[in-house]
Amino acid sequence: MATTILIVEDEEKISRFIELELVHEGYGVIKAFDGRDGLEKALGGKCDLMILDVMLPELNGFEVLRRLRRTSSLPVIMLTARDAVMDKVSGLDGGADDYMTKPFAIEELLARIRLILKKAGGNVKEESHGLCCGKLTMDPARYEVHYGTDLIELTHREFELLKVLLENKNIVISRDTLLEKVCGYDYMGETNLIDVYVRYLRSKLDEKYGVKLIHTIRGVGYSIKDS
Ligand code: CA
Repeated sequence: MATTILIVEDEEKISRFIELELVHEGYGVIKAFDGRDGLEKALGGKCDLMILDVMLPELNGFEVLRRLRRTSSLPVIMLTARDAVMDKVSGLDGGADDYMTKPFAIEELLARIRLILKKAGGNVKEESHGLCCGKLTMDPARYEVHYGTDLIELTHREFELLKVLLENKNIVISRDTLLEKVCGYDYMGETNLIDVYVRYLRSKLDEKYGVKLIHTIRGVGYSIKDS
């Protein structure tokens, strides 16, 4: 079955251009021209990856992403017309897997699509088993985290960070490695981003349940440990 990509873009010329390239590469293509329709199609489960423009009628791209992430981990590449750092941060914070600033080279978009699909495909096998630390459990296949019986709501980035920590339980991981694993090897933004996400995780886990799971190793990085 062909890999299907959903293009959510209101500018027909751009949408058509991306479609032609994707079809040429052998992908199936579904298109939507506004945010509401895009969200519906994304949730319809017939696509493997979504290319999502930020500036859209009905619902903007961030809103589409926010609603999608309540129930779906469908890979998303955001298209942003502005090069504003805030756009990127809100896109990635909201759970986008990657973003591209318009105008972009189509080869780059195709390369990122391949990379993300490869990652998503590779995860299926390795994620079939759950991860845990004390009462904390993660089921990556279902995209769920529980503390005891409580379901913990995490953003995409928080989830990814916690996943890397759990996969390396009791091992210290440097900030650089975490940044690379959570934000991508080519991430060029603020290096304290990991500290920010660790803070969010601690408030949702350690502080909420009065435990110490995530440990800071000064000058090095972080580690999750059974206490
Ligand atoms: Ca647009």
